[in-house]
Amino acid sequence: MGAMSVAVFFHAHPDDEALLTSGTMAKAAAAGHRVVLVVATDGALGLTSSEYGDPADLARTRLAEVQASADALGVARVVNLGYADSGLGPVTVRDGSGRTRFVDADVDVAAGELADILREENAGVFTSYDAAGGYGHPDHVQVHRVGARAAELTGIPVLEATVPRDLLVKGINLAAKFYRFPPEFDIDSYRRAYSAKEQITHRIDVRRQIPAKRASMRAHASQAAADGGADRTLAAFLRIPRPIYDLVFGREWYVDPRRSGPVRHDIFEDTTQEVRR
Ligand SMILES: [Zn+2]
Repeated sequence: MGAMSVAVFFHAHPDDEALLTSGTMAKAAAAGHRVVLVVATDGALGLTSSEYGDPADLARTRLAEVQASADALGVARVVNLGYADSGLGPVTVRDGSGRTRFVDADVDVAAGELADILREENAGVFTSYDAAGGYGHPDHVQVHRVGARAAELTGIPVLEATVPRDLLVKGINLAAKFYRFPPEFDIDSYRRAYSAKEQITHRIDVRRQIPAKRASMRAHASQAAADGGADRTLAAFLRIPRPIYDLVFGREWYVDPRRSGPVRHDIFEDTTQEVRR
């Protein structure tokens, strides 16, 4: 086993870690690295069934869910930056908390908060999102901006979590043959989302972390629930038969904006940092 390091995974909402980076997180933790999860918001405006109550109720539920997900992955610490979820709908929708929405946050201020955590943790590497913000949720685009600025402020390399979009569209088309995706699910939006295969610098094999990844996804029960019996995306993904699931979710991808070249297979490959002991 190589030198121990610290990896900080920066996400917009509780549950984003499950889909994008949970395998990498479980793999790093299992290898003895310290893994920290930072969420920008509590996800109070996430789509769910009405049984989860008002946004404040949902926020409490989702923060408990993200802690359960973190526990399943071996995460040592969860931090919530405490911004309000910006939501996917009209910009007039607010979560009622009166806090600054993440999309409205001053990038330098939010990046400074993240940088403080990165320095405090002596992070060797951290992750954010690709420049498209994945499928384009305003909070995800903001994660990209804030992550890029935090990398500048600290000099700590950022890896941008992403998915090769051609593979994603293939997987969704396959799943759509068997399952009913929720009405808000728009496959066309995925044709421009995430990253082209050529941009990807890191491909992490997480097939051995599939049980932890599924546990992480299951922990976010509120995000698998909807009124009227429709599947939410997370629920639809969990119902994909295991061989196909493993094919689609058995790898995770990152873009290192500083480099190109041969695809790497370890997020710690370019870090020289070691944990102070
Ligand atoms: Zn999100």
